[in-house]
Amino acid sequence: MTIPAFSKESNDYRASLIEFMDTHVYPAESVYHEQLVASGNPHFQPPILEELKAQARERGLWNLFLPYPEWGAGLSNLDYAPLAEIMGRSEIAPEVFNCNAPDTGNMEVLTLFGTDEHKERWLKPLLAGEIRSAFAMTEPAVASSDATNIEMSMRRDGDSYILNGRKWFASNAMHPNCKVLIVMGKTDPEAATHRQQSMMVVPIDAPGVTVVRNLPVFGYQDREGHAEITFEDVRVPAADVLAGEGEGFAIAQARLGPGRIHHCMRTVGIAERSLELMCKRANERVTFGKPLAARANIQDWIAESRIEIEMVRLLTLKAAHMMDTVGNKAAATEIAAIKVAGPQMALKLIDRAIQVYGGAGVTDDFPLASAYAHLRTLRLADGPDEVHKRSIARWELRRHAPA
Ligand SMILES: Cc1cc2nc3c(=O)[nH]c(=O)nc-3n(C[C@H](O)[C@H](O)[C@H](O)COP(=O)(O)OP(=O)(O)OC[C@H]3O[C@@H](n4cnc5c(N)ncnc54)[C@H](O)[C@@H]3O)c2cc1C
Repeated sequence: MTIPAFSKESNDYRASLIEFMDTHVYPAESVYHEQLVASGNPHFQPPILEELKAQARERGLWNLFLPYPEWGAGLSNLDYAPLAEIMGRSEIAPEVFNCNAPDTGNMEVLTLFGTDEHKERWLKPLLAGEIRSAFAMTEPAVASSDATNIEMSMRRDGDSYILNGRKWFASNAMHPNCKVLIVMGKTDPEAATHRQQSMMVVPIDAPGVTVVRNLPVFGYQDREGHAEITFEDVRVPAADVLAGEGEGFAIAQARLGPGRIHHCMRTVGIAERSLELMCKRANERVTFGKPLAARANIQDWIAESRIEIEMVRLLTLKAAHMMDTVGNKAAATEIAAIKVAGPQMALKLIDRAIQVYGGAGVTDDFPLASAYAHLRTLRLADGPDEVHKRSIARWELRRHAPA
């Protein structure tokens, strides 16, 4: 398979993004942390973020993820890959450019399956970066890596549905601007296994919705938060069922394909930045009369890191090109493969960088420790490694099954 060159449009965006990251985003990282700490509220929206968003939007570095020209930049997955990679280099960058998960996935769902009213009320303010959203599928009581286990009840009652259940890990739900949830539950437990689920658009302040708590991740209170939410007799109009009853599973598949590849593109970016940091530190620090960079084992880590980044980047580009040319369904094996390979590669690499930094590597003076904690969650979020490997193995075994 030949992967074509990036378009001129993608190359132009890339040059502008690199310039914007160098002049605006990296210098703002310390300001962002200072403002967040000074607020005393882990879910505070630092003003620097809104300033950067306004500047990025003015320069047209906005909604680059959305492949539909009437709503976003209209780039192919392949053309978006090098841009997402650059955004992945800084924890604040994806939101600066309105390209952060889970809003991207939710915007994509509302573009594809939302009604005109959904588009007016939720999609437009999301695209403008004025509000945020969360996606609530996972439940504490059931093994949610198998989404057929989801138990939330969505019972029809006249012109509406009554929702009852408990969700957790709804990322973004603690964001002060989070206004809307896309919720998955069961409308018909008697239907065929993959037709029992539906997805609904639910305002976060709907009566009966309670954000119970934030779930810390390795002790970090992530700014966007990962919330546990209860739903008690929440009444949702039938008009807010996305694409009709029984379509929940199909929408989840449509949502997760692009979401997974975006994560992996960003993963390559944070891996590149970690390698850069590792090399700088190895050149500067001297032990036993020599810089760390002169040690064979450190050189080995650096070389292995370069090799591993290039392999994952190429696999990601292949998956992106396949999504563009043969569709998300036909690219499913490749998407599953990068979802496993990307976070594992970056974790291995950040671990090496932490080791080269010594004690400093596990502090928050450098971005390595928080990047490690964040990346580790990607071996679970959007499907654990084992579930993706199961799919890859099943496809592979089927190819070689006896006639
Ligand atoms: C930081 C973070 C953010 C998240 N954000 C969201 C969000 O915004 N919205 C949302 O709905 N969910 C979110 N999740 C939840 C995430 O998608 C789930 O944790 C994940 O799907 C796994 O479900 P589970 O936790 O119920 O694990 P379980 O289903 O209980 O699985 C536990 C483990 O079993 C193993 N396993 C499962 N199946 C197999 C198999 N076939 N073979 C071998 N081993 C297997 C895996 O190792 C898996 O980790 C988030 C999670 C994290 C950590």
